[in-house]
Amino acid sequence: MATAAVTLTTQLQNTERPAVCAKCLYVFAQALSDKENEAIAVALLKSHHAFFTACAKVASAPGATGDLSPLRSTLNANAAACPNKRYHAFASLALGDSVACVMDALCQCLFAAVCRGSQKKHNKILLSKNGMWPSSLEELIPTDVKAYARWAGTLPRWHAIAFLSRLLIVARRKVMEDLSLSPARDRICSTMVRSMRLWRVPESEFRPEIRPYLSHDVPLGRPPIQDAAQILGQVVGLLVIFEDGPNRLLDDFRFFSDGYERILHDAIVAFLEKPTCPLDAKHRDTLVGAASMLSSRGNLPVHPLVEQSRQPTSPTGHNLARDGLNLAHTILVYLEQRRDDRTCAGPGCTSYAREGETGTRALSLCGKCKFLRYCSPECQKRDWTVGRDDVPHKVICSALCKFERAGVSPRATSMDAFSRVYFDNTTLTDEEFTWLAKWTLLDDRLPYEFKLGALNLFMRQSRDAARQGIFWP
Ligand SMILES: [Zn+2]
Ligand SMILES: [Zn+2]
Ligand SMILES: [Zn+2]
Repeated sequence: MATAAVTLTTQLQNTERPAVCAKCLYVFAQALSDKENEAIAVALLKSHHAFFTACAKVASAPGATGDLSPLRSTLNANAAACPNKRYHAFASLALGDSVACVMDALCQCLFAAVCRGSQKKHNKILLSKNGMWPSSLEELIPTDVKAYARWAGTLPRWHAIAFLSRLLIVARRKVMEDLSLSPARDRICSTMVRSMRLWRVPESEFRPEIRPYLSHDVPLGRPPIQDAAQILGQVVGLLVIFEDGPNRLLDDFRFFSDGYERILHDAIVAFLEKPTCPLDAKHRDTLVGAASMLSSRGNLPVHPLVEQSRQPTSPTGHNLARDGLNLAHTILVYLEQRRDDRTCAGPGCTSYAREGETGTRALSLCGKCKFLRYCSPECQKRDWTVGRDDVPHKVICSALCKFERAGVSPRATSMDAFSRVYFDNTTLTDEEFTWLAKWTLLDDRLPYEFKLGALNLFMRQSRDAARQGIFWP
């Protein structure tokens, strides 16, 4: 396989007109992904960085909308002249088109490179010090994510979507930026809708202005049954990462699904009513949460499944809604963002510093909570005593330190663990509990409808809690 990798690397050097045979590359990609060849794959990841870098470059070259016909004729000529035709029978039957075949093979190789180990490890793939590819984000994403999104939204097999899911885990901010733009999101949204509805969606159901994006770049019909099922599994995984994956921000899925609220919502609830692929309880909850967000964004009638999830599930009012409007969830997501925010937290101050900036622009972290940044001792003092929206940082700081001590530091905790500590009246004082919510919900950076939903919940939770004597005995 090492010899083949060297040959293929040479053939992949010209990104516009690669000299590679689509079918042979596909056979190689399958061998690379085969569990039995795991050790060889790991060795290649250490010794043949150039091969994987070339894969990423060729897969990215056509971009989001580039014309594929020159590439197709090059590839067809390569296949016709291939001396190894006897191996071609092992290539995928689902991929008759040479461009589709090459792109799926490349995504398969890239997926094999980033799918090692647990999800936790994926997160750290770029930090791994064991000499494996990729050693930088540029190797993995040489230009932008748009071409990868194109393959994820058009190929009739699952590797490209799986690879995109991994990219979201590894480099969420960069990936989200590209995925929130057309045509990337149109292609992926339509693939989501189509796969959840078993590819029985007439084009007329999509809004006219997005229909041009639905025509596939590669000639394909409905994927074969087995591939359709695998794509569906990956689509659910992608939705779960959007909604509940690491490093998510409040607006990620909202921007991504803008304009697709109704059709995505309908597809998700139809799928939830009659799942056509295995679905565990946690993923189910996440999908219900996604449907809930979509129905409030799109002003859609609330589906019974969503209604159910919005009801309090425990008598104490804990663990209220899993619909993204849970108060503790909102606070946790907000805290995660604040921790990355490089704006001075002094009330009214807008000083901003980029990562690593020094001198007069540098901001220093609050020494106690290590959460907020300040441009000057004056700003820090003002925040400590007065604060934004009359919430002094000394109260917030003390609450944040308590979360740290309780082992639920935002960014390194689950929503459930955080929620438990937030609602546990022996950890936070009443003042800390209330003011943390106030400080979060009054921030303009929080999207309006999130605010409104969370405020309603806050009122309901506080009222129920007061009635039951939980917070104010
Ligand atoms: Zn060949
Ligand atoms: Zn300041
Ligand atoms: Zn502090």
